[in-house]
Amino acid sequence: MKAGSTPSAEAGIGTLGAMGAPLDEIARPARRRQGLISSAAIGSANRGRVLKLLFDLGPTSRAELARHVGVNRATITGIIQPLVDQGILVEGDPLRSSEGGGKPARPLWFSQDAQPICAVLLMHDSVHTALVSLDGAITAERKAEFPREATRVEPIMEAVAACLAGTLSEAPRAPRAIGVAAGGMIDTDRGAIVTVNLAPMLDGFPLGPELTRRFGLPTCVDHHPRALLVGDRWFGVGRGRRRFAVVYTGDVLGGALFLDDHLYRGPAGAGGELGHTFVQVDGLPCRCGRRGCWETIATLRWLRREAAARGLPAAIDSRRLVALAAEGAPGAAELLDRYARNVAVGIANLQQTMAPNFIVLHGDVAGGGPVMIEAIAAHVRALVPWRPGGDIELVAGDIADAAALRGAAGLVLSDLLHFEL
Ligand SMILES: [Zn+2]
Repeated sequence: MKAGSTPSAEAGIGTLGAMGAPLDEIARPARRRQGLISSAAIGSANRGRVLKLLFDLGPTSRAELARHVGVNRATITGIIQPLVDQGILVEGDPLRSSEGGGKPARPLWFSQDAQPICAVLLMHDSVHTALVSLDGAITAERKAEFPREATRVEPIMEAVAACLAGTLSEAPRAPRAIGVAAGGMIDTDRGAIVTVNLAPMLDGFPLGPELTRRFGLPTCVDHHPRALLVGDRWFGVGRGRRRFAVVYTGDVLGGALFLDDHLYRGPAGAGGELGHTFVQVDGLPCRCGRRGCWETIATLRWLRREAAARGLPAAIDSRRLVALAAEGAPGAAELLDRYARNVAVGIANLQQTMAPNFIVLHGDVAGGGPVMIEAIAAHVRALVPWRPGGDIELVAGDIADAAALRGAAGLVLSDLLHFEL
């Protein structure tokens, strides 16, 4: 990092432009659509398209990138060269069959030696940190559970800081920045936690500025399901898709939307609070203080209560429920069907509202495997009348934390490179 580029205490997304790399010199993209945009904004829009294309296509030559983006070779070089000079992209070995008999094409790809991103997955009860390279490799993982008796934020922050320090100490090169995927309600403008129903001591905590203060790195904090979505879009089952949704279920329920090639975030990250959309008027009380939220019927709390009422193991999850149903345990198949329908109700509402059509399920229900995914999909199809353009597909995302960690890195990377996801 250059002298004078120390992030300020206010550092969140807004100060990422203060990074030491010459990335500073590239103008930020116009955040809103305008009738007339500057050539710098067009340049950054094209850079965003080039980087997205690279993630979609894998290692690709300049000529091929130029063809896909619809610009000439000079323009593509103007976009690529600064990224090569900064060590973000590298040119691979020449491809054997050159185009038109000219110089053999050299595919461009993300450099494995570039400064990594430090990714943090912060849930209500645990933290998971890792280094993520620009091509998605995860190393130097650390995990910690929070002390169960914690009622103040300090012991939690100490656990987070210890994990992060351990991961950072293993970095072969100083990481560029910290990307945090956090459960709960997040103010993405301030990098702060608004509320975490299951860990209220974190309410209002300015996580991004605090991590920047401790580690001297720019920090970007976003909602956990949005990180899952970015991880899927860049490195997983969402690769190359222009629209899809992510739904995470477990102790909590959340989601994120990728619509017409853009991550939908909403003002200050207000979009995607799917767990607290209403599915039952005057329904069960929710931890948010309201009643009838989707989260009240489609999370592990509901499943475990209902399992206990049927004499099934109280420590159940979707994986175990599927196994019990296969064994013919009394009540298991019926409970599986009800749980699948409860998850499907919210997905059906989402489909009717935004038509993402392709829905990636993460968390507990993904652990239920194809049986659980297909049970949910069957209910969604029954709840949503078919129409042209309305073919719906549900798939399982990864059960481990890889998508969230890669997505946290992807979110911070898009800010560093000044392109909109
Ligand atoms: Zn609620």
